Amino acid sequence: MKDYSEVFGFDELKEHIHKIILSGQIAHAALLVGDEGSGKRTIAKRFARTLLCETVEKKLEEKTAKPEDIEPCDQCHSCLQAISGNNPDIIIIDRLEGQRSISVDEIREKLIDDISVKPYASKYKVYIVVGAEHMTVEAQNAILKTLEEPPEYAVIFLLTNTEKLILPTVISRCEVINIPAMPDEMVEQYFETHFGDDPDVTQEDIRFAEAFADGKIGRGSITFTNPDFKKLKKDALEVLVNIEDLTLNELMGYVRKADYYSELGIDYFFDIMLLWYRDLLLFESTRDANGLLFKEYLKEISRQAQTLSYEGIDNITTAINNARERLHANVSFDLVMELLFLTISDNMKG
Ligand SMILES: [Zn+2]
Repeated sequence: MKDYSEVFGFDELKEHIHKIILSGQIAHAALLVGDEGSGKRTIAKRFARTLLCETVEKKLEEKTAKPEDIEPCDQCHSCLQAISGNNPDIIIIDRLEGQRSISVDEIREKLIDDISVKPYASKYKVYIVVGAEHMTVEAQNAILKTLEEPPEYAVIFLLTNTEKLILPTVISRCEVINIPAMPDEMVEQYFETHFGDDPDVTQEDIRFAEAFADGKIGRGSITFTNPDFKKLKKDALEVLVNIEDLTLNELMGYVRKADYYSELGIDYFFDIMLLWYRDLLLFESTRDANGLLFKEYLKEISRQAQTLSYEGIDNITTAINNARERLHANVSFDLVMELLFLTISDNMKG
């Protein structure tokens, strides 16, 4: 995924970060909580870049800095290294290729043992654990002591989609920062600025991205930047548009493929389905094509709206959410999806 060097929006959070750095009262361990694509990584990386920036450091030493001066200069050696992902004092810890979890061995090597080595060039050394919820219980237990008494120069960021999978003993040792969802207008403004000039990007694409983003820029951005997502969206729409005519076997073929795209493939598939049924509901109540996300499928939307009652759409939406929960609870993929398609088909007859 694209790395956004600038934290867009989040003015209060930025101000908070500036004040923290200016005061020198830097928390040594923070837990950043926010949905997938909400900007946790961008915020942690920017904080790291600011903390390590040579220009910021000079201003702090001269004691002339004001909160608005605490911005990474993006020109000093440290900033340039950070931007290219090669700053030795910023350590990113993520699941190893092909691994479902972050093991205790990985955490020992990259964090617990490494942290006793002083920073190379800066006053600080920043550790960013991406997907902290993937740390095994053993790994989480192993970092407790480090979180409790980190060296003066160390700052540890744990990033997570959900606090539920983080041990309470870990949470209690961290400053917890919740990343808020961003208002739709700001999300739209961001997509306009960053993708609006692309001749291949239509107003519909921007509207779809804004709806898909659900207040999270990173999430909406993949609709422009990730080629797999475009394939996934195409497949999902083929399913949704032709759902009355496809056999169960054909439907299963599409969704089995969807799961290959990425770990989030089927989740994204569900999200696109929910937007489709949102369109159906909107059309059913307004009979107006203007607010639709999938305006190019107006014919199909109006046809399906005729066979579906409000209650039917509601049942389908509930069934999609249930299917998602069941998959997360490791119920058999085929079983969950077959049940979902049967529910949709039942309601379309009604
Ligand atoms: Zn700098």
